[in-house]
Amino acid sequence: MLNRRNFLGTGALGAASLMASPSLAGVTKAEKADVVIVGAGLSGMNAAMLLQDLGMKVIVLDANDKVGGRVRTVDTPDGPLDVGASQVGRGYARVIDACQKLGLKLIPEDRDLLTFGVHMYDQWIDPKTWAANPLNLTVGEERNIPPHLMGSSIVHKYNPLKELDEWLDPKYASMDISLRQLMQQKGHSEAAIKLAEYSSPGIGVDQTSMLRMWQEETRGALDRRLGTEPSRRDHPFGEANDHKLINGLASISNIEGGTFQLPKAMAARLGDAVRLKKMVKQIDLTDKSGTVTCADGSVYVGRFVISALPFTMLRDVTINGRPNPIARKAITTMPYANTARLYLHVERPFWKDDGMAPSFSTDGPIGMFWAIDNHTGEGQHRAMVVMVGTVGAAIARYGHEEAIQFILDELARLRPASKGLVKVRTYKDWARDPLQRGCGFSLAPGHVNAYARKMNTPWQVMHFAGEHTRRIDYGMEAAMESGERVAIEIAGRA
Ligand SMILES: Cc1cc2nc3c(=O)[nH]c(=O)nc-3n(C[C@H](O)[C@H](O)[C@H](O)COP(=O)(O)OP(=O)(O)OC[C@H]3O[C@@H](n4cnc5c(N)ncnc54)[C@H](O)[C@@H]3O)c2cc1C
Repeated sequence: MLNRRNFLGTGALGAASLMASPSLAGVTKAEKADVVIVGAGLSGMNAAMLLQDLGMKVIVLDANDKVGGRVRTVDTPDGPLDVGASQVGRGYARVIDACQKLGLKLIPEDRDLLTFGVHMYDQWIDPKTWAANPLNLTVGEERNIPPHLMGSSIVHKYNPLKELDEWLDPKYASMDISLRQLMQQKGHSEAAIKLAEYSSPGIGVDQTSMLRMWQEETRGALDRRLGTEPSRRDHPFGEANDHKLINGLASISNIEGGTFQLPKAMAARLGDAVRLKKMVKQIDLTDKSGTVTCADGSVYVGRFVISALPFTMLRDVTINGRPNPIARKAITTMPYANTARLYLHVERPFWKDDGMAPSFSTDGPIGMFWAIDNHTGEGQHRAMVVMVGTVGAAIARYGHEEAIQFILDELARLRPASKGLVKVRTYKDWARDPLQRGCGFSLAPGHVNAYARKMNTPWQVMHFAGEHTRRIDYGMEAAMESGERVAIEIAGRA
């Protein structure tokens, strides 16, 4: 098990010996470092900070003009708005620790999702009376599962994992299958499988391995165990916020001023080690060093290299080194899910005009509408149209303006009362972000057995970080976990 104390206990390491490595002699034009880190997201920068603390010279390269990757905060008339990561759980040890060290304040999330209705088969459905609804073609106990919770309920029901890293245990190799296959094995009706298509965690009922879904589910259960009351899972995505403070932390916290404050403060700590607008194009590996070449011709040579890029991006980087079929397969085939969100300001709660549930899930092209409130009263509210899974993948076909108009039109069609009352604050489609091409990694059925157990093995001197290399965590904490892991690996080899 990774252990921060063990890691810091190796602190006698010095940079000087590494810098004097004969393998780097003879390289004149390239800038040299002990470790060249590609990607200034949380994973790359966490590794950089830990290695710098050990006295190593690190250089962190990022193609963007800012650090943070999938942590991004935009300014809006309603204040800072996180279009990437925003929620910090009570179990986020590394994120919380970094916030404390860097002087950032965690504040309880002020966002509550209002009740969900369901729009399916071109009709409004009341989840409370769904069991008796003639449109409900499911059978037996399935009938009691609200249609928008079918996917997540089934995933939860059959989750066999007790420990956070068990998803990688070969004893579960036979479960590296899709949700459709699992439901068929367990004798579920075709109607239930159809409903799961609209509410499956991961990309979809056919695209994502159960082991990948259960990893996330099992990690989520850990945060729930740190809560004060049983969690309510009455909406299709995420948890109800219980608001109670334990050791000063709510079940969900945000970083004051927006999550971007974290990578910004990490970059400030790293100083001139961070180099922006450095699009890495090629990595040449030997057993003694790695040479990283950027699109602008600049070259960096490290005794070690860390790839902290999502594989959607690493697959465009030419990697020369000893053949490594497992890494190549992972890099070239790992699927990525999309999230696209339209962030709205609601002038007046239109759900009080039409009398319907404020939030809703739909089997149509906009997925979910989240009505957000922190006072449950009158006046202005926030809202989000949240498109994930196959809906998120489909919306990525549209350009920015076209997507916004399409979503607003569909919202107005479903909820005419919303017309004129919603104002767009911003829109973000992560699949269309040229430096991301997706919101997060997935693993297709068969991918855990094919490569996930071994894909973190270093490729000569290159180590792999990034949330997609997680073992036990999720979200930002997975990125931090992976940064810590590669720092330990390198400290152990140096
Ligand atoms: C919409 C959304 C909501 C989320 N919500 C939450 C949440 O509430 N809570 C939570 O914990 N997590 C959340 N996450 C997940 C979290 O943001 C990620 O797990 C984490 O930020 C990933 O960090 P990373 O270092 O692995 O990768 P990234 O942040 O993707 O960093 C990779 C970096 O590589 C750079 N790069 C790409 N290509 C190149 C290249 N060729 N050369 C050089 N640099 C390159 C990119 O610019 C980027 O900065 C969310 C993510 C999204 C997209």
